[in-house]
Amino acid sequence: MTEPAARLRDRIEIGAASTPASALIDAFGRRISYLRLSVTDRCDLRCSYCMPERMTFLPKREVLTLEELYDLARGFIARGVTKIRITGGEPLVRRDIGDLFASLGRYLGKGLDELTLTTNGTRLADHAAALRSAGVRRVNVSLDTLEPALFEQLSRRDALAQVLDGIAAAKAAGLRVKINAVALRGANEDELPRLIEWAHGEGHEVTLIEVMPLGDVEGERLDHYLPLDLVRARLAERWTLRESDATTGGPARYVDVAETGGRLGFITPHTHNFCDGCNRIRVTATGQLYPCLGGAERVDLRAALRSDAPRENLAAALDRAMAIKPERHDFRMDRRGAAPALARHMSMTGG
Ligand code: SAM
Ligand code: SF4
Repeated sequence: MTEPAARLRDRIEIGAASTPASALIDAFGRRISYLRLSVTDRCDLRCSYCMPERMTFLPKREVLTLEELYDLARGFIARGVTKIRITGGEPLVRRDIGDLFASLGRYLGKGLDELTLTTNGTRLADHAAALRSAGVRRVNVSLDTLEPALFEQLSRRDALAQVLDGIAAAKAAGLRVKINAVALRGANEDELPRLIEWAHGEGHEVTLIEVMPLGDVEGERLDHYLPLDLVRARLAERWTLRESDATTGGPARYVDVAETGGRLGFITPHTHNFCDGCNRIRVTATGQLYPCLGGAERVDLRAALRSDAPRENLAAALDRAMAIKPERHDFRMDRRGAAPALARHMSMTGG
């Protein structure tokens, strides 16, 4: 996809950009400015902590069309959302996804401050230049290991070379890259220093993530649970970690690694609570708004979008979401053999 992508039409009147009265503010006074929008539940990898090998994907009619995704995103921008992260499943497997980026890119500087994505990188080489032209400036690429055999074991696909090509293409296109790695006991735990060293050497930030109990997958996820406090303590024996005051408004805490000259983030949903400053909501590819990644509360935006009065019903649905956003999440990793805390997979809500 190197051609400038086509643009989507504005089919429904959404209204002017945000006014203070229309801002999305929840019952705890938190202002919602960040939307994570999943554009597909499908993926070309099968990361073992994320989905089973034989994953059942949604029928196409249940998934929002590109036009609906576009209308929805405009609706959020009109309510004061300034940052949109496109995710999945794997967002770059969605056909014509470049059209959505190109169309939403027009709102940059006009209500939207940032348009970005989280990707597994397998198709990034094809999309990097067009993403940059659309106004994307940084991408998060998920990469847990640089070992081809371990990559294949974790993702059940032999695609490490493709991902590394994608990361290189993103850098060459002028995109800033952040590497997200899930820390997994007995899998990549010993390799994390090398992964961090490599990424920092390439000029990429790294964020480590604790595995979360979302969705039924084969195997015991608790066996792979590795607290990041432990990882951090081990890294501190090897390197000088300086507490950084950097913040992205998200749940990560950052340190600067003196020896590598790079930044390292830790996302620790179990060991620290990060709900107080939560500014985000998630929408699945079927248009279900989940106000909290760790909660079951949801609001059906697809029904609003497909109704006779999409503008009014969307506005009412967003108000409802603000009323039910919970104060904090409740992941439980302490129950060995227990059902996942939530039945939906991360590939539904996009991480
Ligand atoms: N396919 C894209 C990717 O892998 O970057 C975007 C979607 S993926 C669901 C988003 C992020 O969620 C990835 O960084 C992935 O490692 C992470 N993830 C998936 N399942 C997880 C789990 N159970 N616990 C913690 N992180 C998880
Ligand atoms: Fe696909 Fe991302 Fe889930 Fe891996 S983590 S299976 S790449 S959606």
